[in-house]
Amino acid sequence: MATFKAIRIDKAEKGTTAALTEFDEAELMDGDVTVRVEWSTVNYKDGLAVTGKAPVVRRFPMIAGIDFAGTVEQSSHPAWKAGDKVVCNGWGMGETHLGAYAEKARVKGDWLVALPAGLTARDAMAIGTAGYTAMLSVLALEKHGVTPKDGPVVVTGAAGGVGSVAIAVLSKLGHHVIASTGRMSEAGYLKDLGAAEVIDRNELSGPAKPLAKERWAGGVDSVGSTTLANLLSTTKYRGAIAACGLAAGMDLPSSVAPFILRGVCLLGIDSVMCPIELRRTAWTRLASDLDRTKLSEITHEIGLAEVIETGPKILAGQVRGRIVVKIP
Ligand code: NDP
Repeated sequence: MATFKAIRIDKAEKGTTAALTEFDEAELMDGDVTVRVEWSTVNYKDGLAVTGKAPVVRRFPMIAGIDFAGTVEQSSHPAWKAGDKVVCNGWGMGETHLGAYAEKARVKGDWLVALPAGLTARDAMAIGTAGYTAMLSVLALEKHGVTPKDGPVVVTGAAGGVGSVAIAVLSKLGHHVIASTGRMSEAGYLKDLGAAEVIDRNELSGPAKPLAKERWAGGVDSVGSTTLANLLSTTKYRGAIAACGLAAGMDLPSSVAPFILRGVCLLGIDSVMCPIELRRTAWTRLASDLDRTKLSEITHEIGLAEVIETGPKILAGQVRGRIVVKIP
C-alpha cells in the first residue's frame, strides 16, 4: 500500500479530530492532475478546520489545508504535464475535497494556476489564500475606480494575513494606507509594511451611526460585524469597501444610509469559487506588486507537524502576518 504524510481530520463522537498520519494513496479523490505538494500555509479557515471550531470540513476523512504550491507528478489534463509548477487554492480543498496538508494532492486541472514567473513555490504560499484574497480586494477597489488621489484607504485586521498583504500592496501602489489593529504594539511592523497611519481598532468597533465623518475613499475589511458597519458610514462619497472577512463576526449591523446618501459601494470578495481568469490576474499582480522583501518580513515558516498547534493561535488573532508550511 502506497501512503503519504497528511493531516487527517476525522469525525469523532463530539466534533472532529486532527492528526498527522499516513494516508493511503488509494483514498485520494477524483481529479486529472496529481501534484507533489511542496508548500502550504495556515489561513484562518485552516484554523477552523484543524480545531473543529466551525463546520468547514464537510466530508470525512478529510485532509485539511486550503492551498498549496507544488510540482505536477501526473496529468491527463491537456494544460498540464509532469514537472509543471502550480498553485492551487480554494475550490473546496480542505472542505469537501481532500486538501493541501499532504505530500500528495489530486485535483482538477481546471483549478490550477501556473506558478507566476518571479515567484518561488514558497513565495506563493507565503502569499497563500490570505494574500491572494487581499489582491482580489485590491483589484475590486481598482475596478470600482478608487485611486490614490481620491484619499486614504483603510485596512482592518491589519496585522493578520489578509491585512498585512493588503497594506504592502496598496502602499506600493501609492495609496495612503490607514491600518486598523487591535495590536498597537505592532505599529512599527505595520509602518514597515507601508502603513502611513495606524489606528486602534476600538475606534471602529462600537455600534455604527448611519453616517459619520468621511475618512477614506476605500478599504479592505477582513473583520466584518460593527467594524464593517463603521467603515461604510465613514467612507467618502462614491467610495467603496471590499469585504472579505469575518474575524469579528458574520453580522453586519449597518443601514442603507451610506449606499443611498453617499453612493458608497460594498464589494463582496470570495476567493473559493473565484473564476480562473481573475485568479490568474491576481497571482500575476501579486508577482509584480508585492515587494518580496516585505513578503519575507511578514512570513514565518513551520513544518507540517506544527500546523495543528497553530490552529488555535490563528483563531485567537495571535498570528502576525503569514505562516508558510514546508511539506516534508
Ligand atoms: P488572520 O487571523 O491572519 O487575521 C485576522 C486579523 O483580524 C487578526 O490578526 C486581527 O488583526 C483581526 N481580528 C481578529 N479578531 C478580531 C476581533 N474579534 N475583532 C476585530 N479584529 C479582529 O486571518 P486572515 O488574514 O487569514 O483572514 C482574515 C479574515 O478573512 C478571516 O475572517 C477569514 O476567514 C477571511 N478570509 C476570507 C476569504 C474569502 O474568500 N472571502 C479568504 C481568506 C480569508 P489585528 O490584530 O491587527 O487587529
